[in-house]
Amino acid sequence: MKKDKSKVTLSDSLKNTVYIYGLIFKTAPWYIIGRMVMGLVTGLKHGAEILLISAALNAIDRGESFESIVKILAAMAIFWFCYYVFFHLYWGQMNAMTRLRFQNRLQKIFFVKSCELDLASYDTPEFYNDFVYSMKRVDTVMVYATDALGDLIRSITGSASVFAVLFTLDPVIAFVVCGAAVIAMIFRRINNHISYKYSKLLNEQYRKEWYIDRFFNTPDFTKEIRLTNVSDNMLKEYDNKIEASRKLNSKWQRTMLIFNTLIFLVNCFSEAFALGYMAKNLYSGIVLVGGFAITVNSMWKLNNMISDITNQLVNVNRQSLFMEKIRTFMNTKANIVSGERIPDAFESLEFKNVTFAYRDEPVLKDVSFKINKGERVAIVGYNGAGKTTLTKLIMRLYDVTEGEILYNGYNIKEYDLDLLRKKIGAVFQDYRIFSATVAENVLADLYIEDKEELVVKSLESSTFGDRLKTLEKGIHTQLTREFYQDGTDLSGGEAQKVAIARVFAHENELIIMDEPSSALDPMAEYELNKSISENAKGKTAIFISHRLSTTRHSDRIFMFEGGVLTESGSHEELMRNNKNYAKMFNIQAENYCVS
Ligand code: ADP
Repeated sequence: MKKDKSKVTLSDSLKNTVYIYGLIFKTAPWYIIGRMVMGLVTGLKHGAEILLISAALNAIDRGESFESIVKILAAMAIFWFCYYVFFHLYWGQMNAMTRLRFQNRLQKIFFVKSCELDLASYDTPEFYNDFVYSMKRVDTVMVYATDALGDLIRSITGSASVFAVLFTLDPVIAFVVCGAAVIAMIFRRINNHISYKYSKLLNEQYRKEWYIDRFFNTPDFTKEIRLTNVSDNMLKEYDNKIEASRKLNSKWQRTMLIFNTLIFLVNCFSEAFALGYMAKNLYSGIVLVGGFAITVNSMWKLNNMISDITNQLVNVNRQSLFMEKIRTFMNTKANIVSGERIPDAFESLEFKNVTFAYRDEPVLKDVSFKINKGERVAIVGYNGAGKTTLTKLIMRLYDVTEGEILYNGYNIKEYDLDLLRKKIGAVFQDYRIFSATVAENVLADLYIEDKEELVVKSLESSTFGDRLKTLEKGIHTQLTREFYQDGTDLSGGEAQKVAIARVFAHENELIIMDEPSSALDPMAEYELNKSISENAKGKTAIFISHRLSTTRHSDRIFMFEGGVLTESGSHEELMRNNKNYAKMFNIQAENYCVS
């Protein structure tokens, strides 16, 4: 049965809170300890203040000597001086420094965690948006949570110490104020519960908002935004989101109003009673003016602090929804786990009745084939036939739904994941260039001096050599202008060549190139294919392409249609079969004059 997402249990909320404080403690113990100590000291300060003021007023009421009153005042001055020194040292120095360290460490933990996630995690919008949220807001949410805990400790110790003082002054007032504050607290808790429930319902709207935010803020959509009217759709979605949030909020505000009125009435009653009671005691001489003043002051202080406790509990609780996102993200376990087998030199790769579905509909159906060492295999087919998916399965970015993939006769799941991936070099259609130097982009790693020759050779193999000569700083040229103003932006074709050089820079025994020349003009494509053929000599290679002119010289060609392997053989054999491969080849030959 599907879990009702708006249903919030106290245990959920507690679990989130305990988890988050545990994470903060593990990441930066001194940060949270410091904040708790600060809360404790500030809380106790309230009780001590009342004691000192009460001592001074009582001394005046009792007509004690000037000297003893001055002593009390001096003690008060020293007390405040010490407190403010501590306060400034804490907030100006310790908190500022430990908070920064804490935020940096936390962000890094999140970066590392994100590398462990399965690709499939990114396919679920709900997870993806929560993930984006966690990455973006983790440091502020955690600082907020720490502050809320510090404030809570301050209010609890403050209330306890003021209650103790008030109890000694007048137990009746102490109990009336406390009793009323507890009733108000119950109403606030109900209010909070309702607010949390609505926040959960609002979650879907937040997710929409984050997507729309990404749509307008990241470079991914800039071209489409300028060339089409797609931004109108997004603005319409934004209006829908505002309307849905408004409706939910107004429903929540109405309920809140009822409980806020009840809280107000309870407070009015308790204060009216306490003031009346104290006025009677003053009139009948049971207390003097000093006692009256300090009792009334303590009563207000206690009332404020107890209502602070509820507000802080509400705040911690409200954060619980965001804490839950962070907890879910941190607790997400990868399904793709490493085996232990060490892969030997590549001999064969076999698909045995492989079926794969991203979600419900299979995109690869009962696929079987075997590729042996030294073979050149082309995988061809129309868009959406499942060619790239095949590559993702070989690299274990996803695991098969049914069947198995064997590397040298063993299921790829048995192998150490990192070592297996090192045996296979893949360039994806949607390759990325990083904000790093050309050399680091080729190595996809930190650059070390003795790799210079390898980097240059790999770039020449991917036909980037001529362009490299035009770069003033050669392989040390910074790519993209994300980090440095004088960084170099490459054209699509040039960037593709740098991405291809990555394969040549590594000792991969099986190489997979997914549309390696899609961004190149015909001449550059011809040069690149020639160079790839020369450089991949002796290696096993899988080329994915829908341009059949580039794949016709492969040893074997696999034709995919709708996720099914429909034809396999050499180009000549497939042409003789005269099925869809031949049709596709002839159409392309007519259009592009392929011979
Ligand atoms: P090809 O490389 O042959 O063009 P793909 O392997 O990229 O095809 O895609 C095959 C099918 O799988 C397509 O219908 C595509 O929409 C679907 N697909 C690809 N990636 C995903 C994904 N991450 N989530 C869901 N469906 C996907």
